[in-house]
Amino acid sequence: MPQVRVRFAPSPTGFFHIGSARTALFNWLYARHTGGVFILRVEDTDQARNSEEFLNLIYNSLRWLGLNWDEGPQAGGDFGPYLQSERASVYAEFLGRLKASGRTYEKDGALFFRISGEPQVIEDAIRGRVERTEEKDFVIVRSDGKPVFHFVNVVDDISMRVSHVIRGEDHLSNTSKHTELFKALGAPIPVYAHIPLILKQNGPGKMSKRDQGALVEEYQKRGFLPEALVNFLCLLGWSPKDDREKLPLEEVVRLFDLPGVNQSNARFDEKKLAHMNMVYLHEMAPERCLVLARDFLLGRSYFAGGMPAEAYLRDVIALCQPKVRAIEDLPGFIGYFFGEDFATDPKAREKVFAKGDPKARLGELLAALALADFSSDAALETLVKALAEEHGAATGDYIHPARLAVSGTAVGPSFYGLLRVLGRDRVIRRIGRFLATA
Ligand code: GLU
Repeated sequence: MPQVRVRFAPSPTGFFHIGSARTALFNWLYARHTGGVFILRVEDTDQARNSEEFLNLIYNSLRWLGLNWDEGPQAGGDFGPYLQSERASVYAEFLGRLKASGRTYEKDGALFFRISGEPQVIEDAIRGRVERTEEKDFVIVRSDGKPVFHFVNVVDDISMRVSHVIRGEDHLSNTSKHTELFKALGAPIPVYAHIPLILKQNGPGKMSKRDQGALVEEYQKRGFLPEALVNFLCLLGWSPKDDREKLPLEEVVRLFDLPGVNQSNARFDEKKLAHMNMVYLHEMAPERCLVLARDFLLGRSYFAGGMPAEAYLRDVIALCQPKVRAIEDLPGFIGYFFGEDFATDPKAREKVFAKGDPKARLGELLAALALADFSSDAALETLVKALAEEHGAATGDYIHPARLAVSGTAVGPSFYGLLRVLGRDRVIRRIGRFLATA
């Protein structure tokens, strides 16, 4: 079988959204599954709506998602240039061929393509047999001299030797125009695979760039894990045909095929994405989590008052990683590790003072901590257990008031880890302050 060549062909006329990312991903998966070539082609013929910013967003988003392209801008390849704005000579050459075939004519300054009027039948790799007949000749070069989308799209697929056109279902209705052009140019027709739409989370209709949660850049800014987003996108229209949801990408590459893509539309589900992101976060190596968390926090100027020591930050992040749902929850979760002026939750305080004698327990703990081994959670746990036994109390009688004293809240990471990471000086100072003001 000849080598598979697929392309992702975005137009840099807007923000990079989930639907585009999914189309790019399915092309990438098919290329990797078949050992083929993944081409990035930029359809930037609409000069009025193109922007450099949107173009860079395409590159950045694809890179962030890990969808590296084999041919295209910044990657090179034998069939370039890969920006349509640089391919005028290719279009002129193909236009010459089409004119020579006698299938074009001019009217009102525009150049029209004369359709055959025959039914256009494709065997779509996802949707099966689709038949459609064009009824009207259509413009291929506008009166201002600019070739239109249908023409340049087909010319590029021919000249870049694209074997499979995997794109959104919104292009299905264009396909009969395209096959008319392929035939008129004497070129083989690629295999088509039209991916079903992504429906918006609530209500009917297709998800649009304006819908909540639609932009890839937003997830990047919010510290989402790209591998979680990619896993989520794989499941928007494809599944491994069992109940699994979290799948290593290598396995998706192995299993992915076009007939396995659903014919029915997929619904976007932000909760499912958030959950996937959490699962990935909790399984991630602490070293990588540290890098992502640090970048995220720096991006939000979190350490404007001074960068903490590397080892301390590492310990804080490692301790909190299993406890937060997302990187973006960290700022609200770790504040008391980096400053003394944290607030005390009044509800948690009320609860602590509702029974027993928390001040007496804290006094006992304070005395014991002066000589305690802070190097391991186990040592601190042993110490608290011994205290409880000695005073006929429960460990919780120490843990709840002490957590409140050192962090101001009843929720947080493991208690012994909390003490260990804060360290003896901070813990003793904070408990002392709490006792003085309680
Ligand atoms: N530039 C078109 C789009 O962004 C691509 C169409 C195609 O993939 O053939 O929708």
